[in-house]
Amino acid sequence: MIAEATTSVVSNETNPWISAAARFDEAAARLGLDEGLQKVLRTSAKELTVHIPVLLDDGRIEVFTGYRVQHSIARGPAKGGIRFAPDVTLDEVRALAAWMTWKCAVVNIPFGGAKGGVICDPSLLSMAELERITRRYTAEIIEFIGPERDVPAPDMNTNEQTMAWIMDTYSMHMRHTDTAVVTGKPLELGGSRGRPEATGRGCMIVTLQALRRLGLEPGSARVVIQGFGNVGGMAARLMSRAGFRIVCIIEYDGAVYNAAGLDIEALMKHRRETGSILGFEGAEDMDKDEALLMECDVLLPAAKENVITSANAARIRARILCEGANGPTTFEADRILAANGIFVIPDILANAGGVTVSYFEWVQDRQGYFWNEQQVNSRLEEIMVNSFRDVVSYADKHNVHNRTAAYMLALDRVGTAIRLRGLYA
Ligand code: NAD
Repeated sequence: MIAEATTSVVSNETNPWISAAARFDEAAARLGLDEGLQKVLRTSAKELTVHIPVLLDDGRIEVFTGYRVQHSIARGPAKGGIRFAPDVTLDEVRALAAWMTWKCAVVNIPFGGAKGGVICDPSLLSMAELERITRRYTAEIIEFIGPERDVPAPDMNTNEQTMAWIMDTYSMHMRHTDTAVVTGKPLELGGSRGRPEATGRGCMIVTLQALRRLGLEPGSARVVIQGFGNVGGMAARLMSRAGFRIVCIIEYDGAVYNAAGLDIEALMKHRRETGSILGFEGAEDMDKDEALLMECDVLLPAAKENVITSANAARIRARILCEGANGPTTFEADRILAANGIFVIPDILANAGGVTVSYFEWVQDRQGYFWNEQQVNSRLEEIMVNSFRDVVSYADKHNVHNRTAAYMLALDRVGTAIRLRGLYA
């Protein structure tokens, strides 16, 4: 199976499904996972395709296609976001659902994995049209979802408002308000404190652990961050407050660099006022591709997938790669980074702070009792520190690099749950 997947990777390096399958095969083989279990874990548990008729503002009716895939409910309700994008495919949703299973297992929260998507272009739709799509999509998948079954969250082009509409539609059908059916809601509707910062905070926590392990000091660590959005912006703000030296921020239109460290709050203000990070007084502008390759202690890609590939991996000069984004490194690039001794904190660990605080949101909604921000942050820290320790111990014990270790740990946990439950027949 590994040989088959590896051959495909050569010609399909940037296909996330192929990358995920290749990593699964590698981890399953190392783990000596039973062949039957491998079959179960490779396949989604349930896949639903819906066709959603929606009235557009101009009076026409359009039919949109949506998906919800539950990869696994072995360890608890399925968990995963819903994305709205013109290029959503069932294959992509499948891969992302499996990814969620592994991520929840790595941080040991009692969820399985799911993902959803609707093929549409939100930039061409009004708020009223988006609301009608969201509500009809929710109505079509209503038997699938629920606090005990499958708990959606925001993803690409969906947000707190989308979650509020899903929660309301679900609650209207159930004839009672049920806030725990989705996470990523507005605070006023049962959202959790600390959720917007959670992914960036998680990145900072695991980076601190990695620095400690390599005997480096945060105060002298030079950090390069790609993406100044939710994950990258929050990570930059929190890391800079914690004393890291953020020397470079990379955005889609270029990068800014200051060897002494950037003033992140001032850079955020500059971007708000001018629409770009470029031209910032406290830094010099730089080419974005060159910036990715600069010598640094921590490189934190937090923009998009397939940033580090076989084309540039050999020229990455970071001590630590903390994957804030999902899938920023290809399967081929993994080998090159490992050969060059780069300490990789894989995405399914590094950016799991987001789903961890989503879990906290679900717990708070079910309890009807809300935590303060300090409680959220300290529980997040505990989970991220323990998960980091679990992954690196696994890596040491099995003599593999961190990504394979994270997959092995996840497969082991999900496989054990399935074994203990047995097959219902
Ligand atoms: P976002 O849209 O808030 O931010 C992304 C930023 O990256 C934007 O500022 C964008 O301009 C920039 N960007 C886009 N293309 C770029 C390029 N080619 N080079 C440099 N910068 C570029 O998105 P986000 O929520 O921060 O998510 C970023 C990544 O993190 C995605 O891969 C996402 O799946 C992953 N992730 C996010 C969360 C979360 O809680 N938001 C959780 C887990 C994983």
